Amino acid sequence: MGILARGGYELTPRADEAEVLVVNTCSFIEAAQKESVDAILEMAEYKKFGAAKKLIVAGCLVERFREQVLEQVPEVDAVVGTGEVERILEAVQGDLRVLPAQPPAFLYHDLTPRIVTTPKHAAYIKIAEGCDHPCTFCIIPELRGKFRSRRFESVVREAENLAAAGAREITLIGQDTTSYGEDLGLRDGLARLLAKLAQVEKLLWVRFLYAYPNRVTQELLDTIAAHPRLAKYIDMPLQHASRSVLARMKRGSSGDAFLKLLGRMRETIPGVSLRTSFIVGFPGERERDFTELCDFVKAARFDWMGVFEYSDVDNAESFALNEKVDSETITDRRNRLMAIQKKISRENLRQKYRGKRRETFTALVEGPSKENPMVWEARLEGMAPEIDGKLYLTDIELPSGEVAEPGDVVRVEMTKTDAYDLIGRVKEILPRIPERDAAAEAFAAPMQSPEKLHRIATGAALRVLG
Ligand code: SF4
Repeated sequence: MGILARGGYELTPRADEAEVLVVNTCSFIEAAQKESVDAILEMAEYKKFGAAKKLIVAGCLVERFREQVLEQVPEVDAVVGTGEVERILEAVQGDLRVLPAQPPAFLYHDLTPRIVTTPKHAAYIKIAEGCDHPCTFCIIPELRGKFRSRRFESVVREAENLAAAGAREITLIGQDTTSYGEDLGLRDGLARLLAKLAQVEKLLWVRFLYAYPNRVTQELLDTIAAHPRLAKYIDMPLQHASRSVLARMKRGSSGDAFLKLLGRMRETIPGVSLRTSFIVGFPGERERDFTELCDFVKAARFDWMGVFEYSDVDNAESFALNEKVDSETITDRRNRLMAIQKKISRENLRQKYRGKRRETFTALVEGPSKENPMVWEARLEGMAPEIDGKLYLTDIELPSGEVAEPGDVVRVEMTKTDAYDLIGRVKEILPRIPERDAAAEAFAAPMQSPEKLHRIATGAALRVLG
């Protein structure tokens, strides 16, 4: 989007207005592929009835089905894979239809123009791309290429730019953030990067997602514990707890080893919130493996947990494994595991927040709730954007008449705890940081002359950063 905006194109969230439609696709699992294909077919209709003259398909689906997308949906004019992001302009201008398949190597940096589609107080930064792990259920290494880290200074500069433009929270992402820097010859690269980002003054929290269990070092934990700006929060997808299932997944380790690691995390970082995710119904997962996973979840007492149902992808290694689990059993296991966690989550929240009427907690205000316009949403340090539970605010006005705004840092009194969510009211609004400084103004400056504008459809509200 940033490349298109810099090239003089105007972005619109309205597909019926756009002259060019760009569908960015996912093909991680079958459900994602289906969603992507549905979106392409839906957009193809606009070529018949809307203003659209061109339909471009980008992203992971292209890495898997490059020529097929063009063959099977004749309305598609060009395809742009994950390694060809910088060629999007040529595709839009009509100079590119399809490139030969190559291992994806694209990696953005702080000078790559980027449009940030999240609210301005919270932004994601991708610190690395690709993955070298051999997990048998996963085709991400094929779709995204080999693991490669962004330069240290490039990430730091991007964080500083985002903070100057109003970001209070940065979430670092990548397929495996804990391997950050290995390919640059950095030891404990993620810990060093976090320590540096913890110095960016305007930020309230810096967090990272997707830690790989055997890459979590003591140095990393000590760094999180040492810096107030580093969110006391760790997301570490474990995928399973049974040794034999983990071996078939080619992820190694065991539930016992994970329990030790979780213990070390809690000891080093008091009050840390822990998130994980599991896959149920992996080929060869017997009843005893599942029971082992349930017992593990009961013992581990995670703050947040996601459970995914295994689904076959024809070119994943696990496709060839025998002892497939039927889909009904898989769904049943998912429901049972989630029911265990729901109880734990309810107890965790009750224990942490109930009956603490005189205590207040720091929260970042998101804005009015989409589900219920009567309340606002906010998050605590232990809640990552989009994936975890939420803090609902029933009252955002202080007795002085001052009212909280999206992006405000507030102190909240909890009034109710639920299974995954909390309810509270604002007791104090912390001093605001001046809206924009000169650097941010420069980033937000208009980049195109009006006569050059074309309309490109995207699905989200836009904010131009660089
Ligand atoms: S670590 Fe994550 S991205 Fe990499 S292969 Fe395993 S599941 Fe896929």
